[in-house]
Amino acid sequence: MARPRLPAQAYTEGILEGNRYLLSRAITLIESQLASDNDLATEVIEALMPHTGRSIRVGITGVPGVGKSTFIENFGLRLLEKGHKLAVLAIDPSSQSTKGSILGDKTRMELLAQDARAYIRPSPAGRTLGGVAARTREALLLCEAAGYDVIFVETVGVGQSETVVRQMTDFFLLLMLAGAGDDLQGIKRGIMEMADSLVIHKADGENVNAAQKAQNQYKQALHLFPPPASGFFPKILLASSYQKTGLEEIWQCVQAFVQTTQQNGFWQQQRAEQARHWLHEQLVFLLKKGFFENEGLEQLLHLAEQDVIRALKSPQKAAMELYQAFLNKTMQ
Ligand code: GDP
Repeated sequence: MARPRLPAQAYTEGILEGNRYLLSRAITLIESQLASDNDLATEVIEALMPHTGRSIRVGITGVPGVGKSTFIENFGLRLLEKGHKLAVLAIDPSSQSTKGSILGDKTRMELLAQDARAYIRPSPAGRTLGGVAARTREALLLCEAAGYDVIFVETVGVGQSETVVRQMTDFFLLLMLAGAGDDLQGIKRGIMEMADSLVIHKADGENVNAAQKAQNQYKQALHLFPPPASGFFPKILLASSYQKTGLEEIWQCVQAFVQTTQQNGFWQQQRAEQARHWLHEQLVFLLKKGFFENEGLEQLLHLAEQDVIRALKSPQKAAMELYQAFLNKTMQ
């Protein structure tokens, strides 16, 4: 059973005071699939909008087993030592079917999870990727309002979720392994092009030589890529979460990116472009919903499908007619 909802002000005031319990309850509210929760969730987010935007949003991806959770825990703890407040969110496409999630098991990042300066939130389950993405972006805004000044959005390095995380973060970090099958051929070029920097993880013990070799290969490969729009040339870094090496360099790299892009205007431009993107996404979502949930159109759609299947009508013409019927109905 869902817990009773609070008045909007209780959530907003709690969040602005950095109350983690109320932050969690507000995120549960925005993740709710109940139509009756929609208005309250929107009211909370709207009230908090002026308090958002002041974090560094870092996307982190890499194939399962690359060591993301170990890395996030160690890198995260280092940021806490530096005085930052860190929130870790996740988008896990696999959680839609299994209802599990990459962050479901909190023991994965035990030290971080226990620290009052960090906030860890599992990926919302049971929705489409688009739905998960929209909710995660809203959760990110709430975390900013609660005072988290660094936000990690983690995703597994498979499929479309990288693009989604890329579109809600300022800096995108790709974790890779040396000599474990995801060498240059294995990694999707598209994901590499999205990355603002690469980390060759587990560069320790017997892996060190292979990691250095991979570093050189990637450096050469990157030179063949078009110059990045950010004006920041991606770094290829080595790190080991076990030995806690390379973590400092990664944070310096993030800071250098922030500095470069805030100076050349890319930071602001990317944020603006992302806001515009989310507006469009949301609009398309509402338009689709308006159409497909319109009961009067269901029968017409069914008939049109039959006509198209039997090649009695072209899909273009059938779609135009349905669209016109939709317009007529909404204008009534
Ligand atoms: P995830 O699936 O990407 O979240 O990866 P995990 O953090 O669960 O780590 C996968 C495996 O790699 C585990 O067995 C870890 O103990 C191991 N691992 C994590 N970090 C390191 C590291 O820095 N060096 C080495 N050698 N192994 C690591």
